[in-house]
Amino acid sequence: MKAIPIAQPAMGEEERNNLVACVNTGWISSAGPFITAFEQDFARYSGAKYALAVSNGTAALHLALLAAGVGSGDEVILPALTYVSSANAISYTGATPVFVDIDPVTWTMDPQRIRHAISARTKAIMPVHLYGYPADMNAVHACISKSSRRIFVIEDAAEAHGATLSVATPALSAGAQVRVSREKTIWKKVGAIGDIGCFSFYGNKIITTGEGGMVVSNSKRLIDTMKMLRDHGSSPKHRYHHPVVGFNYRMTNMQAGVGVAQLTKIDRFLRRRQQIDRLYRRLLHNVPGIVLPPSSTADKHGVCWIFSMLITPGFGMSRDRLMEALGKRGIETRPFFIPLPLLPMYSSRLSYPVAEKVARSGLSLPTYVDLPDEDIHTVARSIGKAQTG
Ligand SMILES: *Cc1c(COP(=O)(O)O)cnc(C)c1O
Repeated sequence: MKAIPIAQPAMGEEERNNLVACVNTGWISSAGPFITAFEQDFARYSGAKYALAVSNGTAALHLALLAAGVGSGDEVILPALTYVSSANAISYTGATPVFVDIDPVTWTMDPQRIRHAISARTKAIMPVHLYGYPADMNAVHACISKSSRRIFVIEDAAEAHGATLSVATPALSAGAQVRVSREKTIWKKVGAIGDIGCFSFYGNKIITTGEGGMVVSNSKRLIDTMKMLRDHGSSPKHRYHHPVVGFNYRMTNMQAGVGVAQLTKIDRFLRRRQQIDRLYRRLLHNVPGIVLPPSSTADKHGVCWIFSMLITPGFGMSRDRLMEALGKRGIETRPFFIPLPLLPMYSSRLSYPVAEKVARSGLSLPTYVDLPDEDIHTVARSIGKAQTG
């Protein structure tokens, strides 16, 4: 029996060559040609003016929040269903994460509920493009335009490199008092829509540098602040002058070398992931009790970071029993994230029924560039066999 892992990085000759170049030249730390190349290439790819490479996706979120001025006494709105680091980054600043329930179809933040979560202390909104599916950014901007405060939009795009969204052009100038028009829209990549976009290059993400992250923005001011905080709060003018407490959130030239190579392949990676998504959908759409992940629409194109579905009572077997049965056949799966308000440090008296229901029934299947079609057939067949006992 061949094991089928949940994820696997796609590394090749180009990554190896760039790493060898680092070793041979001695540029192994956080200075070196690959850092600037990766930042420039990533900015161009994402469609934002500026990009800064950082040590991981959580550091990217933390820097973004700090640059937005988020701190103690402030509130930041985010979905109840996301990876824990979205909320942790908010906690690091001393601010309070304010969770909103998700939409039952898209599994991203429910736009209706954002409006109710905005208070006089709201400093930022953090939409998360969960499992590669774009959050409703037009709705986020529409909520903000009604507020008299400057509310920053920090996108957690850690799972969604290359996902696109048709954005109403007035929404591009956040805070402006404008009506969202249906006619004037342009397609933008996630991360380049809000004030700051945050990406992760962890080993299972769409492109990887082992550990790593990136912030992108169109604001020179926000980028300059994040650049200073990334490097111990160093003054750009006077060496060893540190006007504020900063961090070491730098990426190494070795990681950036891997990133540069990965980025040249991202279009192929995304095409293969789309094929995987289509094949899983084709093989599973008739299985009773399975709810497939949200599909791309006329205004949202998701990327398949990890093929994720719901196992509802109609399936005849619980999500956990199915995971166990697949595990016995060597197929690795993942349950959905636990809604953050159910974790001890974020526990809340409020309830998040949609997030809780989706999380309880959610299951992710093996998804990676080098996964052969044959293995996808094996996974689908094994799900059928588990169901019929
Ligand atoms: C992976 C991930 C992060 C954090 O990235 P790291 O590089 O692991 O720090 C943040 N948010 C979401 C939604 C993620 O999936």
